[in-house]
Amino acid sequence: MKIGAVIVAAGSGERLGAGVPKCFLEIEGVPLWALSTLAFQESSWSSEIVLVVPAGFENRVRESADRWRLDSVRYVTCGGARRQDSVGAGVAQLGDDVAAVLIHDGARPFVSTQLIDRVAAGVERRRAAYAAVPVGDTLHYCDDSDENPPERGRLVSAQTPQGAAVDLLRRAFNWSREKGVSATDEVTLIRRFAGLRAEPIPGEASNVKITRREDWEFFQPQLLQRAERLKMRER
Ligand code: C5P
Repeated sequence: MKIGAVIVAAGSGERLGAGVPKCFLEIEGVPLWALSTLAFQESSWSSEIVLVVPAGFENRVRESADRWRLDSVRYVTCGGARRQDSVGAGVAQLGDDVAAVLIHDGARPFVSTQLIDRVAAGVERRRAAYAAVPVGDTLHYCDDSDENPPERGRLVSAQTPQGAAVDLLRRAFNWSREKGVSATDEVTLIRRFAGLRAEPIPGEASNVKITRREDWEFFQPQLLQRAERLKMRER
């Protein structure tokens, strides 16, 4: 089964407040999006990568992909207002021979090739799968609600990659556009569209999403280590 990847890097990153889109923050000259792209290129499943970036960033991304020999990057396209729109734009670019796709947040630079491969295997088994980790903290509503907070034993925290058969995902996107349905991730979209429960695959605590300035600062040593690997590939 040919499996492609869509890496979404078109968010503005307002919560980080860096003045550039989050995935274009640089460590030693290497932008965040390039780190997870390398992991996908090195995984044994992913044969074709679509990068989704903010409008106007396409050419610079193509040049960087070439400079660091990210040869699996086949298409660079611009994203939309919501994450869902960016994923839809990326999925639309996949070649007709691609049967399944893994969606990944460009803001999760520490994803391992092993996790990518495990989620891909889950998609082969169940048509939809995603990386998930147990919820460790007790959850509370922080408004005035008297409702009991959800039992954490019944919850997982969804990471990416999230993967699905391409035909299923395309139909789910068409449906969501027609009905005006919003979903913050593909697992939710597919469940609402087809009633299909994606298979949760044990994720990794290290597969964090860089969201706030303190994440960016705290993870500098690991980011530097990853960036050095990429720089060694420079043409
Ligand atoms: O905003 P958040 O960090 O949750 O976004 C998750 C991922 O989705 C990021 O990699 C971000 O660049 C991407 N995204 C996107 N298009 C948007 C919003 C978010 O590609 N409109």
